[in-house]
Amino acid sequence: MAQPPELTAAVRRFAALPTVLVATDFDGALAPLVTDPLRSRPVEGGMETLAAIADLPGTTVALVSGRALAPLRELSGATEPLLLVGSHGVEDSRRPDGLALDDEQRDLLATLDADLRAVVERHPGTRVEDKPAGRVLHTRGLDPEVGAAALESAHALGERHTSLVVTPGKEVVELAVAHVGKGVALVDLAQELGVDGVFYAGDDLTDEQGFAALADDPDQDRAARRLTVRVGDGETGAQFRVPDEPSLVEVLRALLDARRKHRPAG
Ligand SMILES: [Mg+2]
Repeated sequence: MAQPPELTAAVRRFAALPTVLVATDFDGALAPLVTDPLRSRPVEGGMETLAAIADLPGTTVALVSGRALAPLRELSGATEPLLLVGSHGVEDSRRPDGLALDDEQRDLLATLDADLRAVVERHPGTRVEDKPAGRVLHTRGLDPEVGAAALESAHALGERHTSLVVTPGKEVVELAVAHVGKGVALVDLAQELGVDGVFYAGDDLTDEQGFAALADDPDQDRAARRLTVRVGDGETGAQFRVPDEPSLVEVLRALLDARRKHRPAG
């Protein structure tokens, strides 16, 4: 499918910036959503295109996901110099020592485990994904009423333990003892790298935090040079929208081609 001319023009402008961060969500952006989260795979050409972009001068590429770092690395097959930001910004592949949870957070994680086991027993078919700083309850593929009841129980846990950070998604809810959020993670990374512009694409509610944070970047010039893309339907604060994962890969290919032609010296 042909890209809208406004998106093509925005990609060309972005590609000509001296230094950029090209970041994308993984599930639902590069990899189609699947019932079993451990079976998700990137669409054809996606990771190869990101790797080629990362090889260009003045260009950093990052996968920014709600997933824990280890499964994100395994499922994406990403290798350096791609950066991996996992657990909504709680994990960063540049810090291999992982997380520093305090005693209180560790205790809360143990309590959360016990409480979620009870939720799964009450709502058979629900699945719990372990993350370093939290747990995710998945209800994809379940009868919608069963799924909704399970998610409601998980939200109730969030209300009982007020220091838990609750992040709802599509047929999924994450309960975390430490939380950064994709918005903070993206702006912090852009700041740290000192890039002129940030590209970000994603498909879910947590990605909306990213789009909003990049629009509100304290560096207003960088905010003006952002390029944000929502993958799929749903309300969005992103500047552009593409229908599906293969279309995002097309945008990334266009970015690669444009940056190869217009890349800065160096
Ligand atoms: Mg996603």
